[in-house]
Amino acid sequence: MTSPSDRDLASLYIRCEDLFKIYKIADLEVVALRGLDLKIRRGEVMAIVGASGSGKSTLLNILAGLDQPSAGRAFVDGKDLLTMSPKDMVTYRRKQVGFVWQQTGRNLVPYLGAVQNVEIPMILDGASASEARRRATELLEVVQLGHRLHHRPEQLSGGEQQRVSIAVALANNPPLLLADEPTGELDTIGADLVYETFTELNNRYGVTIVIVTHDPDIASRVDRVVAIRDGRTSTEIFRRISHDRGKPEVVHDEYVLVDTAGRLQIPREFLEKLSIRERAKILLGEGHVEVLPDTIHRHGGV
Ligand code: ADP
Ligand code: MG
Repeated sequence: MTSPSDRDLASLYIRCEDLFKIYKIADLEVVALRGLDLKIRRGEVMAIVGASGSGKSTLLNILAGLDQPSAGRAFVDGKDLLTMSPKDMVTYRRKQVGFVWQQTGRNLVPYLGAVQNVEIPMILDGASASEARRRATELLEVVQLGHRLHHRPEQLSGGEQQRVSIAVALANNPPLLLADEPTGELDTIGADLVYETFTELNNRYGVTIVIVTHDPDIASRVDRVVAIRDGRTSTEIFRRISHDRGKPEVVHDEYVLVDTAGRLQIPREFLEKLSIRERAKILLGEGHVEVLPDTIHRHGGV
């Protein structure tokens, strides 16, 4: 019999441990990721949230094989992103991941119709014209654009363009879809349809989907939301159906993440409220842990 932890490991699709990314510009170093831990199951639809500059795009670019981490470990489907050869990286980018950018203009060729946009990656990958057309049409129908096959991007709304972009990203059937603020430039209705599209693609093709977003309502649309703060994962929200109050209702459970070294982030509001600065007392209670302010060494006693 396999233990739950064995099963968890086998179903793990993405695994980042103690991941660092340091950008160097002249003499200046920017630490975009500082010891980030993250696990994503195969077939999961999850979101990553966080303030601007917290490292969300950096993480997504690393998972997409567009950027290299500085240190740590990052595996996607058992492939080690830190030691992969440049040649394998090209194959990885082409076969394993689809990517959607916030700016629709970055995803689409402006003078081609929707169906042709979706066909390009397939033709480049050696598909026949008829096979490419068949699959491009199918994908556009799944993203609810079967009636817009020959519209050029400028003839489509922002939301429609983003759904074409999603179809382009999935043209070669990658098992992983990464989207960096895909609804950032859309209104609510456009955003709703994009999220509906993600759910539909996940149900139909089992594709694992990671969405970076600012959308405050995201928790109600995905299985799990992980927040990044200062280049590390900090909290996690799960959606579940509760029967506690008779009829089933959707509830959200929020947790603080504990990393492999046992570190966790205490919410800044809590620290401020209790004036916890450099150090705190930690006590083991009955079934819980207490964190108390240091009331003795007030001014940085060392
Ligand atoms: P987010 O997507 O959460 O807004 P990013 O991952 O884009 O954050 O950026 C994280 C940090 O890394 C920021 O301080 C940003 O300025 C810096 N950064 C991102 N990309 C580069 C780069 N190519 N060169 C130098 N610094 C970068
Ligand atoms: Mg970003």
